[in-house]
Amino acid sequence: MQLILPPEIGQRVVEQLRVAGSRETGGLLMGEHVGPDTFRVLDLTVDQGGGSFARFLRNFRRHGRGLFDFFRRTGRQFQRFNYLGEWHSHPSFGLDPSGTDLATMRGIVDDPHVGANFAVLLIVRLSPHGILEARATHHLPSRPEALPVDLVLEGVA
Ligand SMILES: [Zn+2]
Repeated sequence: MQLILPPEIGQRVVEQLRVAGSRETGGLLMGEHVGPDTFRVLDLTVDQGGGSFARFLRNFRRHGRGLFDFFRRTGRQFQRFNYLGEWHSHPSFGLDPSGTDLATMRGIVDDPHVGANFAVLLIVRLSPHGILEARATHHLPSRPEALPVDLVLEGVA
């Protein structure tokens, strides 16, 4: 799977990371299915309050409004425009998903109420020089492991 992060989305993530500092931040990813196994992130929600990844999920109602707005703006073409997954920061450790992250992603793809065929997990942080660093995995129902994603950061040298 390939995931494209356009420059304007990358910039929004960088701004949120600067605001959050040493606090974890994150939210939902929404995007467009642009080709075979290729998705472009078009929008994201941000948990303004910070806190843990698990808390983002408990706040799904608030994030769900961002998702609802995205569906409305994109004309409810769910085959083309849909929920892609989650993003959050690891301000003080590496970009690999933690055990909690993996359990959370399994919970999402195995939840019949979410009804996702897959979900992406994008983990981000700023380098000491303020450059966006990111790694993504994707997760499938009934598959415990994190599967690789070819992440393309557009406009980042
Ligand atoms: Zn994490």
